[in-house]
Amino acid sequence: MAFENLTDRLSKALKNLTGKGKIHEEDLQASLKEIRLALLEADVSYPTVKKFIAAIKEKAKGAEILDGLNAPQQVVKIVNDELTALMGEEAVPLNKSEKIPTIIMMAGLQGAGKTTTVAKLAYKLKREENARPLLIAADVYRPAAIDQLEVLGKDLDIPVFSEGTDVDPRKIVEDGLAEAKANKNDYVFIDTAGRLQIDEALMNELKDIAKIAEPDEILLTVDAMTGQNATETAEGFANALDLTGVVLTKLDGDTRGGAALSIRDVTGKPIKFVGQGEKPTDLDVFYPDRMASRILG
Ligand code: GDP
Repeated sequence: MAFENLTDRLSKALKNLTGKGKIHEEDLQASLKEIRLALLEADVSYPTVKKFIAAIKEKAKGAEILDGLNAPQQVVKIVNDELTALMGEEAVPLNKSEKIPTIIMMAGLQGAGKTTTVAKLAYKLKREENARPLLIAADVYRPAAIDQLEVLGKDLDIPVFSEGTDVDPRKIVEDGLAEAKANKNDYVFIDTAGRLQIDEALMNELKDIAKIAEPDEILLTVDAMTGQNATETAEGFANALDLTGVVLTKLDGDTRGGAALSIRDVTGKPIKFVGQGEKPTDLDVFYPDRMASRILG
């Protein structure tokens, strides 16, 4: 389970305090040190950890909790509030266009879960809003990507637009958008290519597609299992594209989970959804407060 170790260590650090009636300066310092180490070990980025600990210190000082009554509970509340704030406070909904179709472009490294997420999100909209999405298969480099999207579309009864692997993805996107217009689809998803790592050719292609499609949403898919790299990848994509949000995948796996805490802080972009399994229904809206509670256990 994600966060298992982090939750364990945070609750131990806080238990050191809650076992006491009053908190002395040195108790708080010791707990903060332990929290800091726990976060770093969970792959939360270093600058984020630094900021987080400083914020807690500041709040604890401001609340004048030292030596006061209920001090331990107050510290737990401060940690909970700061975790929530770090992840963005409120859930951020999907951007929607005033007129159809709302265009959602996916980006991310190969294997991050783009294709799976396209299917999950389209299926969610279909279930919840009776939406009529069209999926555009524009990942022409990974041989199985188009087949994978077509199989998923067939299973979920969602149409997929593809022109095979020999057509330029820019042209596929243009044609796919024309098809969506003709069919009056209310959502269009563009499944783009990924690479093993960020490179210029990939970014140029994604920038071109964004220019052609003028998407309402550019969602970056990031694999939580990749630890510190997840945050670095998100930073790299955020520097090149006008991302509107992030989908953090594979939070069901045995990940240390740090990306959930750093991505918003490092990129300024909200996590909008989390992938928690391989099934089409395993996609959830990201609620910072619920995630903070889950992390604190
Ligand atoms: P893409 O290359 O970015 O399009 O990645 P895919 O969509 O093909 O996903 C790569 C692998 O990750 C597939 O085996 C997916 O089933 C798996 N995957 C995607 N999202 C999740 C998730 O949230 N949890 C788990 N456990 N596996 C996932």
